[in-house]
Amino acid sequence: MGEHVSYDELDWRDESLGARVRVALWLRDEVGEGGIFHKQEMRAVIKGTEQVDRRMRDLRPAGWLIRTYRDKPSLQPDQLYLEKIGQPVWDPEHRAAGLRQISAKVRRAVYEKDGHMCRRCGIAAGEEYADEPGSRARLTLGHVTPRKHGGGVEAADLITECARCNEMVRHLTGVQMNAEQVWDRMTALSGPNMKLLMDWIAVDRRHLGKAEEVWALYRQLPAEARGKLAGDLEHLLKS
Ligand SMILES: [Zn+2]
Repeated sequence: MGEHVSYDELDWRDESLGARVRVALWLRDEVGEGGIFHKQEMRAVIKGTEQVDRRMRDLRPAGWLIRTYRDKPSLQPDQLYLEKIGQPVWDPEHRAAGLRQISAKVRRAVYEKDGHMCRRCGIAAGEEYADEPGSRARLTLGHVTPRKHGGGVEAADLITECARCNEMVRHLTGVQMNAEQVWDRMTALSGPNMKLLMDWIAVDRRHLGKAEEVWALYRQLPAEARGKLAGDLEHLLKS
């Protein structure tokens, strides 16, 4: 008696449970698969919009599918659609589902391999985005192919991305463009860009140009050494 715990009885209102578990329970009990809800409604469970976004992202690797108006045009911009309830993260056995951590060693190796630059836009850590004065790029890791439940934390599965590209890619993968739509974008590229894309396709990765490679190496030097090299190069170009 009392040995068997029924997870059906867990309540999202129980503040002793973690935010991720409470959000999952709220979705299970108050929304249900196939249900539509507003982000604002979720503030009943958890405070702050960023927190809500983060918790929902946390559920994704555990197999939960939550759609936005970006991938489901019938929704209003503030509506979300619970397409699929994933693993029961309220069950202690599943609590860590999708939360496998990338080790510090793997993280370092990936940053190293990618020259401490975003593989998508080429920005280096701490650099300013040209179209966003005062911004500072932060590097993070993205997945080469959309992450499947549980795996994908080895160096080969990961690439360096700035937080901005990472966010963009998440949205793009949510959209799931079909081949025809990608073709439209391919053919809209200028000749040189189309050629460049073909080069990347041929080697199945976006390789860096010679100048970009040296740039990445230069960026890793201490400020003093960078200053000296900048002066020397300027001098060399003038002579
Ligand atoms: Zn980027």
